[in-house]
Amino acid sequence: SASAVAVRVRGEVWGFVVAGAPRPAAFDDEDRRVLGRLGDLLGLAVANTAARQELVVRALSDPLTGLPNHAAFHGRLVEAVAHAHRRGERLALMFIDLDHFKRVNDLHGHQAGDAVLREVTRRLAACTRCEDALGRVGGEEIGWILPGSDLTAAAEAAERARACVSADPIPPAGRVTFSAGVAELRDAADAGALYARADRALYAAKHRGRDRVLREGEG
Ligand code: GH3
Ligand code: MG
Ligand code: MG
Repeated sequence: SASAVAVRVRGEVWGFVVAGAPRPAAFDDEDRRVLGRLGDLLGLAVANTAARQELVVRALSDPLTGLPNHAAFHGRLVEAVAHAHRRGERLALMFIDLDHFKRVNDLHGHQAGDAVLREVTRRLAACTRCEDALGRVGGEEIGWILPGSDLTAAAEAAERARACVSADPIPPAGRVTFSAGVAELRDAADAGALYARADRALYAAKHRGRDRVLREGEG
């Protein structure tokens, strides 16, 4: 004989719990009640696990662009640095900051600014390799981890991305440009040191007049 109960998750049937016994009429009302309770508990457990996974995703990603947020990006950078050191591989880091983005908001409104940010992110993502990682590290600042790249390769990637982002206007803002700083991992440097050098290079690119890429040490 067999007895079955549906497992419901948020009102939808998710599956069944089936009990079987090698004799007829093995299950009484009390058994079916216990089975029903088991199904309820299972449904709750499945719903809680899914909710927890959603929370983790939400805690690590930026809702506007879908990119990893600052905390998640920093975690990836620490991992990438450790990985590169372990294998003796190259690694470069780029910081991108949109030029005069405040003007976009001031002229066209915050919602238009948001749409521009999303489109810039889409264009940048199209320029990355699958092993790369982007992250929204600030309001209109994006970090880019380039495993296996040295300074020259990273600067070339930055120039390609710069051309790709600014080639076609992004309505209603028009042509959108960015400044970028790149740095590469050196012996024994940690993620913090790499971060600081890429950030300094970005700062220098802004001071040199924006819409350009500077490598660490330049400017
Ligand atoms: P600079 O060339 O020196 O980088 O000039 P900027 O105006 O881009 O720089 P600043 O740091 O002065 O301002 C950045 C602006 O980015 C300010 C803020 O209004 C805007 N911003 C930051 N986050 C968001 C966002 O999520 N949505 C929108 N629409 N705007 C944002
Ligand atoms: Mg900024
Ligand atoms: Mg800016």
